[in-house]
Amino acid sequence: MKCDKCFHGAIIHQKYSGMHLCKRHFERDVERKVKYSIRRYKMIDQGDIIAFALSGGKDSTVLLHIVHSLFKDRPDIRFIAISVDEGISGYREKTLKTAKQVCKELNILHEIASFEDQFGLTIDQMADRGERSPCTYCGVFRRLTLNRTAKELGATKLATGHCLDDEAQTVLMNLLRGDIERLVRLMSTKKPGLVPRIKPLRNVPEKETALYALSKELPILFEECPYANISLRAEIRDMLNVFEVNHPGTKYSLMKSFDILTKYLKKEIKGVDLRRCSICGEPTMGDICQTCKLLKIIGSHR
Ligand code: SF4
Ligand SMILES: [Zn+2]
Ligand SMILES: [Zn+2]
Repeated sequence: MKCDKCFHGAIIHQKYSGMHLCKRHFERDVERKVKYSIRRYKMIDQGDIIAFALSGGKDSTVLLHIVHSLFKDRPDIRFIAISVDEGISGYREKTLKTAKQVCKELNILHEIASFEDQFGLTIDQMADRGERSPCTYCGVFRRLTLNRTAKELGATKLATGHCLDDEAQTVLMNLLRGDIERLVRLMSTKKPGLVPRIKPLRNVPEKETALYALSKELPILFEECPYANISLRAEIRDMLNVFEVNHPGTKYSLMKSFDILTKYLKKEIKGVDLRRCSICGEPTMGDICQTCKLLKIIGSHR
């Protein structure tokens, strides 16, 4: 099949857009989507110090490469990378190695923050002790670790590799839980005590971040976390993927609906005044933050 924009062979058929694209036009299309999101959601400002949450997986590596190539000639924008070592044996060591390699190639300061140092336990140990899915602990602890480390490094933005699939899963998951209020609050980027988060890949489907990484020959691993298939998110992911095959464009439609809904809901759902957690001092809606509550459940003494 030929590319719809030139005479080269196509490497992808985007069912949701109806386009066949060659290597060059596919790469441009992904980069265009990233530029569009950055501009539309005003993600990057003059003088920003952007901390990238870099796991060494495909999404975060693609994110760093694209944003770095777009802004590397801007002397006022600085980049740093933060990798979180959750302590997932047999998996995280490998992606951390890739993350180090990527930062070395791009000459970016690389900081590694571990759960063991921060909370006294690895995620493997938490999985053994906890009653909940390891992803519940992991997500909450990673958010805090990234925010804390980004603040310590003086970052003004925290860029995460969440792609279209991740965002669509989050929206659907919270809708199914009946927690629209939490969702709107989660999506709001400006909260006191929290480094504003940006997600420049939010319009790029996961399959396309993988293909982009292959097309650009980026040094990434396609291994998956051993806990990835035992969460509610995994069920939602599979369901959405089936929907996307049968009804191309479903993930984009979900995000479009959510964007429209958020405009109205933001007026109804007022921002909450964040307080300081009485145990760790991090921002929280109640007296004690979610991290400290979970640490209590698993019996960590940090
Ligand atoms: S799949 Fe779950 S345990 Fe694994 S890195 Fe993701 S959130 Fe953490
Ligand atoms: Zn082409
Ligand atoms: Zn706390």
